[in-house]
Amino acid sequence: MKTWFITGVSSGFGRALAEAALERGDRVAGTLRSEEQRAAFDALKPGLSLGVRLDVTRHDDARRAVALVEESFGPIDVLVNNAGYGHEGTIEETPLDEYRKQFDVNVFGAVSAIQAVLPYMRARRSGHIVNITSMGGIVTFPGLGVYHGSKFALEGISEALSKEVADLGIRVTAVEPGAFRTEWAGRSMNRGSASIADYEPLFAPLRKARAERSGKQPGDPAKAASAILTLVDSPKPPVHLPLGTDALAFIRCKLDTFSQEVTAWEPVASATNFD
Ligand code: NAP
Repeated sequence: MKTWFITGVSSGFGRALAEAALERGDRVAGTLRSEEQRAAFDALKPGLSLGVRLDVTRHDDARRAVALVEESFGPIDVLVNNAGYGHEGTIEETPLDEYRKQFDVNVFGAVSAIQAVLPYMRARRSGHIVNITSMGGIVTFPGLGVYHGSKFALEGISEALSKEVADLGIRVTAVEPGAFRTEWAGRSMNRGSASIADYEPLFAPLRKARAERSGKQPGDPAKAASAILTLVDSPKPPVHLPLGTDALAFIRCKLDTFSQEVTAWEPVASATNFD
């Protein structure tokens, strides 16, 4: 029986994962933003489900939420940084404030929870931190650069953290889902306004396709939840776990192209040391 701390359990991956863990008898502290949602989560499986109010951009609240769970619910075995959203808009058209908001939730929100939980996990020399990044933390699409920036950042933080805490008995995994049927491209998506006509031929069809695909994505969040249960039960969890056939194909293609480019430019790259 594990104790989980999962951010963003109102819908999508967070909700599916919380339900799957509760179903097998684990204990889940899940974060939600409204009191009504918090109370409803508490009532899901009395004694096993604990709703905690948290906006992940309120960094001190994250520390308090983790302390409350550790002290009154149980030692956290698995932290899942799931809360997040996407911003749609080109790099040039997106105001800097939108970058800040995106990073505040997707990056700094996760870092606050990580910093809050690590003292407890270090003391116990055990724990697993699962950061829900995205295939968009490894590959990119035009019009999602702000989101990619945040997910690439969380990928880098996850990978470095995995090296910092491995000898302390703590595992870290970046989970990289492809397109799954959640609220991500629906109510949660922040759609920036398009103001520069030059980008429209490229971006307008992509924006339309993404909106039309919402609710029809191939990935099933319940199956993602089951994959994450397998991940946390593994004695040797990976540092990266792509989820979905689309994520696998896009990531493999990126690795191949990257490798080919590195090889093609090797003579230039390798001629830069002092003689
Ligand atoms: P979702 O159904 O929209 O769920 C997002 C969750 O994050 C909701 O519970 C939401 O709470 C919460 N959240 C957002 N901002 C928050 C904040 N400031 N503080 C606290 N909670 C906040 O979408 P999802 O797809 O399950 O998203 C979960 C994670 O998966 C995200 O990090 C997303 O980037 C990632 N992801 C999704 C996909 C996909 O295709 N679905 C693919 C790759 C990665 P509210 O209900 O209060 O808004």
